[in-house]
Amino acid sequence: MISRRHWLYGVGALAGAARIVGAQPAMEAADQGEAAGAAPKGKLPLEEYEPNSMLHVHESHVPRARFSAIDIHTHISVAKKSESGVELSADRQYLGTSEELLAVMDRKNIRAMVNLTGGYDQGLTETVAKYDKAHPGRFYSFTEPCYERFKETNYPQIQSDAIERAYQGGAKGLKLLKTLGLYLRENITSGTLVKIDDRRFDPMWDACGQLNIPVAIHVSDPIAFFTPTDRFNERYEELSNHPDWSFHGHDFPSNAELLESRNRVFARHPKTRFIVLHVGNFSEDLANVSENLNRFPNMTVDIAARIGELGRQPRTSRKFFDKYQDRILFGTDATPHGDEFPQQVFNDKLYEIYFRFLESGDEYFDYAPAKVPPQGRWKIYGIELPEQILKKVYYENAARELHLSA
Ligand SMILES: [Zn+2]
Repeated sequence: MISRRHWLYGVGALAGAARIVGAQPAMEAADQGEAAGAAPKGKLPLEEYEPNSMLHVHESHVPRARFSAIDIHTHISVAKKSESGVELSADRQYLGTSEELLAVMDRKNIRAMVNLTGGYDQGLTETVAKYDKAHPGRFYSFTEPCYERFKETNYPQIQSDAIERAYQGGAKGLKLLKTLGLYLRENITSGTLVKIDDRRFDPMWDACGQLNIPVAIHVSDPIAFFTPTDRFNERYEELSNHPDWSFHGHDFPSNAELLESRNRVFARHPKTRFIVLHVGNFSEDLANVSENLNRFPNMTVDIAARIGELGRQPRTSRKFFDKYQDRILFGTDATPHGDEFPQQVFNDKLYEIYFRFLESGDEYFDYAPAKVPPQGRWKIYGIELPEQILKKVYYENAARELHLSA
């Protein structure tokens, strides 16, 4: 395996990265056998910096959610084949067995996991049989669009019919990855990017409205992914670790363009309910999310993989939860064995951090089970939600969207 530094600096898109915090002198120092932890003459490579907080403040341990929870945003199965960011196969790969998932769920007081990436056709059938039907009430699967057939002339009808079939087969909703807007192109993996409000998807949105199933939609990404990967980027390390997550330059639309296009879909389909993932896809700007929640009654949000953002603005977040307590859903983006992404790895620790953020008033703690904060070098603060709001966020809001009885 090539070393991370080698890999990082070997990537053309990151030219300029070597200028960061004296990487060169440190490499030389390492060659000369510097003692572990020692920083030669004040120079320390950024990726080796792991400061320990000297702060003494209260530390809560919250091993179980105070109220039984639904995790509305998980990825238990994924497509076996994808190309240039587009899933191209109904076949599923399963990331965790129901037995290993249930053990963690029972320990953490997670009543149900919603597997958003349940796929379509035989992949969905298999997923529903393996999880939803084998353990009623513990797992729910969402279907996804079949982009393989996007070029067929009657695609709008094909896709709308597929939603109906998926619903009959047990799908609880439709999930859109950020594929739409950022990866899907006219010739599927080449040509111009297809816009989120492309008319060819109108029958699909309408079908969900008619069947009264929610659409969980991921649009855009953290705003820093749309700015250069340089020393001013607050997610520099994350983008360095995942250069393909950058949407800066090329023919990518701006974050604002993506959200506007998404909003046109919400406006055009008022009878379709949208769960806008990752805090409405703009957790850095809760004023913007609030504005959209006010504008679109058919919109709710989840908090998956964004407690790093919510927790660094605890006062603003608390007001946001107070005001929109009926429209915020508990979700984590949990991915079994997803160790490469500590902010969403499915394990006890991840859930405990979410519970601590929502339930405690603790100060300055890690938002992910990782040595270095994976999404940006900061820590978070708990927002101490009262029981009445916790009940809604953990369970009631999701149960309403999924039409579950209490
Ligand atoms: Zn996700």
